[in-house]
Amino acid sequence: MEKQDNPKVVYSESIHLEQTLGQDKLPNASVEKLEEENKMLGTNVIRLEEENLMLREMFNNANNELAALKRPSLLVADVISIDQNKSVIKLPNGNKFYSYVAKDLKDIHSGDAVLVDQKSLNIVDKLTVNNNMEVEKFIILEKPQESWKEIGGLKQEVQEVKEVIELPLKKPKLFAKVGIEPPKGVLLYGPPGTGKTLLAKAVAHSTNATFIQVVGSELVQKFIGEGAKLVKEIFALARSKAPAIVFIDEIDALAAIRVDLGTSGEREVNRTFMQLLAELDGFKPLDDVKIIGATNRIDILDPAIIRPGRLDRLIEVGLPNEEGRGEVFKVHTRKMNLQNVNMSQIVALTENFSGAELKAVCTEAGFFAIRDNREYVTHNDFTQAVEKLQLTENDEETGRFFG
Ligand code: ATP
Repeated sequence: MEKQDNPKVVYSESIHLEQTLGQDKLPNASVEKLEEENKMLGTNVIRLEEENLMLREMFNNANNELAALKRPSLLVADVISIDQNKSVIKLPNGNKFYSYVAKDLKDIHSGDAVLVDQKSLNIVDKLTVNNNMEVEKFIILEKPQESWKEIGGLKQEVQEVKEVIELPLKKPKLFAKVGIEPPKGVLLYGPPGTGKTLLAKAVAHSTNATFIQVVGSELVQKFIGEGAKLVKEIFALARSKAPAIVFIDEIDALAAIRVDLGTSGEREVNRTFMQLLAELDGFKPLDDVKIIGATNRIDILDPAIIRPGRLDRLIEVGLPNEEGRGEVFKVHTRKMNLQNVNMSQIVALTENFSGAELKAVCTEAGFFAIRDNREYVTHNDFTQAVEKLQLTENDEETGRFFG
């Protein structure tokens, strides 16, 4: 074997040579050369030892992976009911089983998704984190910053939302003492851009609740075949983040009256809707999860969604009247640098404008000032902005377009 091939052997040989000959018996140059060689071989040994260690680690990892791959996979099931270490589970094919729960598993509740052993069908683990992370991709989850102060007008509507959503979340005991059950949720209906989302966010802010926003049409269009499962997971997520408000915008996409359930798409929407009803029926009025539905199409809504015990409080959010428009302008001009703006005149010019359109008037007016190289906004900027929006609105087939 070549010396270089086995540095360990060379290393020990050179030491041996030094020891037998004695340093004084070798010429100085040779000693130096040997010492240098010795040093180099020493470094090689360290490097090889490190390499050896690394290879061992790789080997162990591959072994572990192999062992994991050889393990039988687990089934995902839903917990129907649970009592300490016994549970009724339902497999995706609909079959139900009575199974046992692994001893060290805590915090399993009905409705949870769990992992079960293929043979014994006993619950071996909980499937929470991944599920919730999945569902978080499909929703907006936030702690909104919008307060009641950001809402112009809508006094009556604010009052009702406070009564139905805020009060039960803040003072559940009061309802228990009086002996009445607050609604589980409300349905806000009215034209686009009138502040329905804003109301829902403001009540989440005032109750410090997690705000979970779902768009009905997205739920049924984007996640074909997944809608019902997602509804279920959204509510499980809401329970885990309680106090929480689930805001379902465009709820009509899920909950419209369907005359024909012939197509698979319609059946899918229907399944999603049924799951939503099941979720609404499944929790108690004083649980700290509330549902707010919103729609522009109350006329096509399936009455099942507004039956007692579901979204049985209906709040109409209409276009603002003159006073309301003044209030909305107040909110949106709060931070604007205005000069000689006669707001009541602008209010008079904006009949039939929604809150969102009034906000757009303010933004447009600001742009007119910027284009004119000014740092203040004038009355003329506002009138031009109103005209511009009226023109654009006439161009739009649907009329209202600001969200
Ligand atoms: P859609 O039906 O299209 O979902 P919406 O009724 O939920 O509309 P919002 O999204 O709440 O309307 O309103 C859009 C924006 O318009 C708000 O973020 C807010 O800036 C403004 N706005 C609407 N109504 C009001 C209001 N009453 N006071 C102040 N701002 C408002």
